[in-house]
Amino acid sequence: MGDEERKILVVGGGISGMTAAVEAAEAGAEVVLVEKNPYLGGRVSLLNQYFPKLCPPSCGLEINFRRIKQNAKITVHTLAEVESVSGAPGSYQVTVSVKPRYVNDNCTACGKCEEAAETQVSNAVNYGMNTVKAAYLPHPMAFPFKYVIDPAIIGTDEAKKCAEACQYNAIDLDMKEEKVTYNVGAVVWATGWDPYDVSKVDYLGFGRIHNVMTSVMFERLASVNGPTGGKILRPSDGKEAKTIAFVQCAGSRDENHLPYCSGICCLASLKQATYIRERAADSTVFIYYIDVRAMGKYEDFYTKVDQDENVNLIKGKIARISEDPESGGVLVEGENISQGGMVKQVVDLAVLAVGMVPGTATVKPGLEMEYDDFGFATSSGSSGIVPAGCVKAPMEVAASLQDSTAAALKAIHRTMGR
Ligand SMILES: Cc1cc2nc3c(=O)[nH]c(=O)nc-3n(C[C@H](O)[C@H](O)[C@H](O)COP(=O)(O)OP(=O)(O)OC[C@H]3O[C@@H](n4cnc5c(N)ncnc54)[C@H](O)[C@@H]3O)c2cc1C
Ligand code: SF4
Ligand code: SF4
Repeated sequence: MGDEERKILVVGGGISGMTAAVEAAEAGAEVVLVEKNPYLGGRVSLLNQYFPKLCPPSCGLEINFRRIKQNAKITVHTLAEVESVSGAPGSYQVTVSVKPRYVNDNCTACGKCEEAAETQVSNAVNYGMNTVKAAYLPHPMAFPFKYVIDPAIIGTDEAKKCAEACQYNAIDLDMKEEKVTYNVGAVVWATGWDPYDVSKVDYLGFGRIHNVMTSVMFERLASVNGPTGGKILRPSDGKEAKTIAFVQCAGSRDENHLPYCSGICCLASLKQATYIRERAADSTVFIYYIDVRAMGKYEDFYTKVDQDENVNLIKGKIARISEDPESGGVLVEGENISQGGMVKQVVDLAVLAVGMVPGTATVKPGLEMEYDDFGFATSSGSSGIVPAGCVKAPMEVAASLQDSTAAALKAIHRTMGR
């Protein structure tokens, strides 16, 4: 077996892909890590804090960034996607296409190009809740810690101004998309998940009603590097949101939308309730649930949040969210399952606890992987394409770490023809 066949390609640079990459590299394999965003860390890097210990995402991610930086066996491509894979276990030919960043490794993240830029583009990191300049650092913890020039200004005088403002010769406006080919022995597929498009659940009002947002957006709203600097403000008028309703199973466990339980969104809302309660002593949280899923070690976390008398857990099925013109907030209505009667509550903000959908639900990469009815990659059988993390099933960070460590080991075996 040639050296190139001992290489492993890891697709997806979230916590699962990074873990698979460092575990495989530290066990001696050469690793190529391919991430489509301009930064590694995936959705975990966009969390405000993560359960069970409510640590900031930097704890956990930074150690992996360091392990990647220090390991010469790992090659990272950001802004990159796999274009084609052919071959068989032990020997795959892979083509990776890498989009131009227009910024090279000389970048010190000094920010001068950002000062020179004028055009504003939607901020993907904040799910479009605000904008950034077209010369931007994706977020303060971004790895690599390098700016990006948005293609929107390429070919304009503004882009030239940004390049002139750079004292480090770090902007290269002539960068083009590149194709890079590799021969690898196995592939770890760790492309993660997307939030369910809850605008499809019309009665919940997302996309129509200003003060209705998803749980992933709320995570950004609560974050110090989010659109409001961590202040929980309602989008319609910037007023502090003091009463907040969480609507569980927003599109989940519903035959018309996502028939399965994502297992995480109950814990996410319990966690987000703590953000609200920490910020304002006079805040009130309503969590409308069908069942609370907080299994095993997370039971204590649930009990602790439930003890706060300003956190009201109500077994109820929300059937309608509408604007409340009088308060400027939203009216949440539905059935009170445990006590009977109706729920009718006006709040400043409603947060929809959305389910997790694998990227492979919409675009199947055309590889030797099997999928369940919902598009999750179930197993790879004897194939050399090994799925890892949330592309396999909804899971929290701790489970993703375990799963991707196992995937790294499996991939190493595959490179050896086992
Ligand atoms: C609201 C909410 C809150 C949560 N809070 C917590 C928490 O507090 N604690 C906790 O333990 N878990 C939490 N989770 C779960 C956590 O987000 C996941 O466990 C974690 O994101 C899984 O990581 P991953 O690497 O498998 O997937 P992802 O984080 O989705 O990473 C996948 C990566 O692959 C990249 N990618 C996708 N497609 C391609 C492609 N074709 N080519 C190249 N790259 C690609 C993506 O850009 C991304 O960087 C929460 C989930 C939700 C919904
Ligand atoms: S590209 Fe140049 S100007 Fe922009 S942040 Fe990097 S070093 Fe500074
Ligand atoms: S984890 Fe909770 S909110 Fe999410 S689908 Fe399951 S029961 Fe519904």
